[in-house]
Amino acid sequence: MTTPLGIDPVSFGDTTGFDLRPLAPARRPTFLAFSPPLIGEEEIDEVVDTLRSDWISTGPKTRRFATDFARYVGAPDALALNSCTAGLHTALVTLGIGPGDEVITTPMTFSASVNVVEHVGARPVMVDVEPDTLNIDPAAVERAITPRTRAIIAVHYAGHPAELDALRALAREHGLALVEDAAHALPARYKGLAIGAGENPVAFSFYATKNLTTGEGGMLTGGVDFLDRARVVSLHGMSRDAWRRYDKGGSWRYDVLLPGFKYNMSDIQAAMGLCQLAKLDGFQRRRREIVRMYNAAFGESGSLELPAERREIEHAWHLYVLRLRLETLSIGRDRFIDELTNRNIGTSVHFIPVHMHPYYRDKYGHAPDDFPITLDAFQRMLSLPLNPRMTDEDVADVIEAVLEVVRTHPR
Ligand SMILES: *Cc1c(COP(=O)(O)O)cnc(C)c1O
Repeated sequence: MTTPLGIDPVSFGDTTGFDLRPLAPARRPTFLAFSPPLIGEEEIDEVVDTLRSDWISTGPKTRRFATDFARYVGAPDALALNSCTAGLHTALVTLGIGPGDEVITTPMTFSASVNVVEHVGARPVMVDVEPDTLNIDPAAVERAITPRTRAIIAVHYAGHPAELDALRALAREHGLALVEDAAHALPARYKGLAIGAGENPVAFSFYATKNLTTGEGGMLTGGVDFLDRARVVSLHGMSRDAWRRYDKGGSWRYDVLLPGFKYNMSDIQAAMGLCQLAKLDGFQRRRREIVRMYNAAFGESGSLELPAERREIEHAWHLYVLRLRLETLSIGRDRFIDELTNRNIGTSVHFIPVHMHPYYRDKYGHAPDDFPITLDAFQRMLSLPLNPRMTDEDVADVIEAVLEVVRTHPR
């Protein structure tokens, strides 16, 4: 099969082949969505307030949201943008990374983390992950460093912080920038310090499924001087604060210093973000409760590998990723997901490894087993619903469905 672009799409069959047995009937009467947003009257009122005001694009609420966010994670400064992808791209441009440069990152991520390296014309060098956390393996990073390496993009997979001490040491030793993709890692901590609290660039996502949402949105944290330059890059390359030119006392004059991008957040988005930020600690308490229920229910099963949680970290629990012990089951991961869907439980897979997507596979000649730990995890992983909208009954339904599928499909 070929797409309109003339590229072969990724194909990977269920490892057990076709299973023609009928799926079990649903117990739950309604479908449990994998990750619906949790929007309250507060967000609605705040958005309406913005719509009735004189500012609907980047204005006072965007400024306040960035300030509140910086205070929340303890960041030196924060720049509100319209996506995490924009934050990562802005960071690479601001760092001056371009053609001839290499950026080391992981295939166990959403393609955006790697696409941005292509956007600046640099070469993404993917390396394998650690088997427990599925975060980038510092030892593999070290082996991949060449004279052309300029940066490392670490992804805090599922909300579990990557091994920052080791990555920082490598960055320091080899003069590399460390950029963090924290799309999953709000709020998370590594050795007591919040992700985003440092001087290096860290990009957060407020996409609809993330722990905090503005519909679409993102935040870039980092040092004050770095973000001053990133601000220019992210808005047409216009000299600092040119966006205030419609303010009283603002001037119509501005200089374009470089061909920048159009990545600013709007006050409509920031209105939601302000309310969501105030609720975030409550959201996280609920996420942790659900994780405790899942861990207690699944810990005894010999067929399920639970998500790792190392010491000295705080997990943001954006995702609850189970890995199936396929040698104990008569079905593969794909069929396992179909069985859960049929029981009205929404799931997902995070992620189809980036190197298996046609663009990266064909451009860099990657084979699926170039990254054996990533490939093995991908073949047996699924993400269960985990969000603060879930009731105890929802959680019990997920647990019952998962355990029933395990029980009824022994090898
Ligand atoms: C969601 C996500 C992104 C992209 O976030 P946007 O805000 O949609 O640009 C980047 N990296 C990871 C790991 C993600 O899960």
